[in-house]
Amino acid sequence: MRNAAGDPGLKRGRKRSVGRAVAGGARPRRRSAPPRAGAVGPAGAGGRPRVGVLSLQGDFARHAAAVRELGAEPVRVSLPGDLSSLSALILPGGESTTMLRLLEATGLRAPLERAVRELPVLGTCAGLILLAREADRLPCPTLGVLDVTAERNAWGRQVHSFSGRVRLEPGGDLVEGVFIRAPRIRRVGPGVEVVARLDDEPVGVRQGRLAALAFHPELTPDRRLHAWFLRDVAGLRPAEHR
Ligand code: GLN
Repeated sequence: MRNAAGDPGLKRGRKRSVGRAVAGGARPRRRSAPPRAGAVGPAGAGGRPRVGVLSLQGDFARHAAAVRELGAEPVRVSLPGDLSSLSALILPGGESTTMLRLLEATGLRAPLERAVRELPVLGTCAGLILLAREADRLPCPTLGVLDVTAERNAWGRQVHSFSGRVRLEPGGDLVEGVFIRAPRIRRVGPGVEVVARLDDEPVGVRQGRLAALAFHPELTPDRRLHAWFLRDVAGLRPAEHR
């Protein structure tokens, strides 16, 4: 039984995650067993791994709760100094135009540009837009590290918000995806792997240590995608079962 008692956060989910999607990527990873639903940490000698959550605008609290449930320590990132000593970083949803303006205003842009070139990063919704190489109608350039093209607010005028069954690849597990004025991923670069689809359309991608989802995994109690990011993308090790 993989998901033993003591696994926080993933009690409701099925045991498999999208982690094996990495097998299709450029480099095989060390892990051999399929990813398990479980906590992460500790990182090295000291304590729980610190996972930054950008907190200029957008949903810090729910990502922080997910990170905490999985055994890592969420860190609020709103000033340059907050980016030190992180094991991974989450860029939440929100309004990408506002977030980009605030990045300039707070002096966070340059250190964040460095951070997304070094750390494992998960971008959700507006966070995907920030990471994307190209996106439309923005006041300043994106961070540009993820080789996709995002089209903002592209799920139709009437339907600004919906929930749909997202299929994780390659396992085929289903998760509920909450899409709130979400971007569409219009182009996927050659080094980018699709890890989630809605009706065959890519809604989740991975490029090495960068992951991005067009929807909001923090808005459902299912922790599989956060667990996948922390364990398989960021390489944070699962805690021992007690
Ligand atoms: N529509 C927003 C944008 O373009 C993204 C919405 C979201 O993050 N939920 O930035």
